[in-house]
Amino acid sequence: MMTAQASKSVTDIEEIDPDAPIFDPQAFRLNDEQASIIATARELGQTVFAGRAAAYDRDAKFPTENYRDMHRAGLLGIAIPKKHGGLGADYQTYAIAAAEIGRYCGATALTWNMHVCSTLWSGALADDLDMDAATRAEHERRRAVHYKRIVDDGAVYSQPFSEGGAAAAGGVAFGTEAKPVKGGWIVNGKKIFASLSGHADYYGVLCTEIAEGEKASRRNTLYLALPANADGISVVGDWDPLGMRGTVSRTLLFKDVFVAEDAALMPRGVYFQAAMRWPHMFLTLSPTYIGLAQGAYDFTVRYLRGEVPGTPPVKRRMYPTKQIAVAQMQIKLEQIKAIWFQAITEARANPSKEQVLRAYAAQYSAMEGANEIATLAIRTCGGQAMLKSLPLERIYRDSRCGSLMLPWTAELCLDRIGREALYETGESDD
Ligand SMILES: Cc1cc2nc3c(=O)[nH]c(=O)nc-3n(C[C@H](O)[C@H](O)[C@H](O)COP(=O)(O)OP(=O)(O)OC[C@H]3O[C@@H](n4cnc5c(N)ncnc54)[C@H](O)[C@@H]3O)c2cc1C
Repeated sequence: MMTAQASKSVTDIEEIDPDAPIFDPQAFRLNDEQASIIATARELGQTVFAGRAAAYDRDAKFPTENYRDMHRAGLLGIAIPKKHGGLGADYQTYAIAAAEIGRYCGATALTWNMHVCSTLWSGALADDLDMDAATRAEHERRRAVHYKRIVDDGAVYSQPFSEGGAAAAGGVAFGTEAKPVKGGWIVNGKKIFASLSGHADYYGVLCTEIAEGEKASRRNTLYLALPANADGISVVGDWDPLGMRGTVSRTLLFKDVFVAEDAALMPRGVYFQAAMRWPHMFLTLSPTYIGLAQGAYDFTVRYLRGEVPGTPPVKRRMYPTKQIAVAQMQIKLEQIKAIWFQAITEARANPSKEQVLRAYAAQYSAMEGANEIATLAIRTCGGQAMLKSLPLERIYRDSRCGSLMLPWTAELCLDRIGREALYETGESDD
């Protein structure tokens, strides 16, 4: 079954009724170029990825075939500047396109986010930050190498930063260390929940540059693309989780891995500057969950109308309780979409305090809301709808994982909103 499904490609798209966009371009004032990129993602998701998603989930298998199709469609380079051969999409366009993919395959959207961030953070985001002319020129030269690999060869990048300690939440320096040596660095450390393990061509590792005798500091965070086949890298542990099974988020070990200077995805000090001045960089895990929320809603409407393939064409829409549940889901979905759309539209350097609080609130709303909608969908559609032959139970499991994603877990968003709403910078009660 896997082989038959996986062999589908962009070129043998079946005739199916296209889904309406999650964000109608006219209503949400998206231009034609944005609408076209987002439509490419939606069409690929609906016509190809949706059919493969169950097998990736069942086997906890990485969606390699989807990545090949995304390369062909130009989507691996969605956020790569046009002058480097990419689609040149801005943050908002990428986020909405990722939501469209998440609607059909959560694991593909979530892993695609790790890949795209390698280009978004080194691209549009870095362009918004301070660098002297020489550093910027060097960065331009280096990122061209990464971008060429992606655009020409379909290279896939991942983004392992979680380590199991306080570093991924932003509290302390990363424990993975890069010791400067002639021509590059020697990297040692460990990353947990590293999506795309064993499948990415480059691991975009967040680590701390630390010379002999120096103390680790968050200011010295480096963002290095380690070739997956470099000596000293190993993938360990199994991967059999509740949801997002296709992400293959295993443990990565680095033992004396040499990496050359050109591996830097950002110049020294720029990641730290980004984390301080461009907080929306951490909101990019949320689009997947907007897509899952839409997917749960779409399923429910079709199911109650008796239109879901593989189920008896029995309508349930005439019951008032079903109508009320759908109304509640639609209200929740529109609430999440509204705050999230506003937040992704505000992504830029030096956002106001209000915009930062809104970004946390949008993340919280998307991550918790997607699972609330999926929960309601299961209760409303009933027992037959949670069979593994249908996508709803997968959406339910995938959406449960959203609020665990560091650095902006649901709990940390609550912590930050409460603290930052009540205290101005530097204020204390002492
Ligand atoms: C499907 C999936 C894919 C993932 N892919 C990646 C990936 O590609 N790259 C990557 O780097 N990570 C990835 N992660 C990891 C993710 O971002 C988290 O790091 C991981 O889920 C954290 O594990 P934990 O809950 O054991 O962390 P812990 O740090 O033990 O946190 C436990 C809980 O405590 C709370 N908490 C943590 N720190 C604080 C604090 N300072 N104050 C208050 N509360 C706190 C949080 O709410 C958190 O949920 C992935 C996770 C999942 C589930």
